[in-house]
Amino acid sequence: MADLHQFGIYACPACKHLLHQENSMLRCPKCSQSYPIIGDIPEFIFEELSQSTDPELRRMRFIDKMAGIYETNLWYPIVMKVYGGLHSLSLPQLIGMVTEMVQPAKGRVLDIACGPGTFGRRVASPSKEVWGIDVSRGMLRQGAVYTNMEGISNVHFARARVESLPFCDGSFDATICCGSLHLFTDTVIALREMARVMKPGAILAVFTFTAGRGGILKYRWFRKLIQGYGLHAFTLPEVEHYLTASGFDNFHPKVAGSVLAFSAQRRTEE
Ligand SMILES: [Zn+2]
Repeated sequence: MADLHQFGIYACPACKHLLHQENSMLRCPKCSQSYPIIGDIPEFIFEELSQSTDPELRRMRFIDKMAGIYETNLWYPIVMKVYGGLHSLSLPQLIGMVTEMVQPAKGRVLDIACGPGTFGRRVASPSKEVWGIDVSRGMLRQGAVYTNMEGISNVHFARARVESLPFCDGSFDATICCGSLHLFTDTVIALREMARVMKPGAILAVFTFTAGRGGILKYRWFRKLIQGYGLHAFTLPEVEHYLTASGFDNFHPKVAGSVLAFSAQRRTEE
C-alpha cells in the first residue's frame, strides 16, 4: 500500500490544481476530473497507444512489449552503436554522466519518459527522490517490478505525457530526460512544460542524438528519413535555440559519436 506522500505531489494535467486521493483514484477538486491509480501507478493518459489518433503516442505502440528487454544487451548497446556510432557511449557511461550533471541537486528529481526507470533508479539517492513519467504502461510496470526487486522506495511512476505534466509549477529541483527528447513532436512545447514544473536554477540533464559524426545518423538520407516519421536528430545550435526559447540557460553539451549529452539550467528570471 502506497503512502499518501507519494501521490500528494500530483496535480491535474488539465487545470494544474493539486489532486486529492480518494481510494484508488486521484480527483481534481476544481474540474472534477478523476484519474485512476492502477497498481500504485496513477494514469493521466486515457487512451491506449495502439488506438491513439496522436502520431506521437501511436509511434510508441510497440514500446510496451520492449519493456522486458530494455535493460538487457538486446537494446541499449545495439541502439547506441547503430545511432550513435562506434565511439558513442555505453549505458553505464551515460548513467554516470547524467548522474554527475544532477549531482548538486537535492530534493525532487523528475524523470521524463523514464521507461522502467533505467536512469531514474540510479539517480535516486537518500538526497534525491525521483518521479518518473512515461506513456508506456508496460515500461512503468517493469519499472515498478525493478524498484520492488531492488528495494528502492524513493522512485515513483506515473503514466503521463511530457506536454501535459501532472505537477504544479516549480515542483522539481532537477529534471532528467534520457533517450527521448528526439521523439517529441514539438521540442519547445516539451521543454517549456519541463521548465514550468522546475524550480528557478534547477538543472536539466539530457541525453539525445545529434546530426553527424558517427553511426547511421551521419548520413543525411537517414536523418531525412527519420524526420519523415516525426523524429529529430538535433544540431547543437538547434538545441541551444530551443533551450533559450523554453526558459533554459547555461547549455553545456558533450558529444560522443552522434550521441549528445547536455546539461542546462532553468532560468532564474523570466
Ligand atoms: Zn482539474
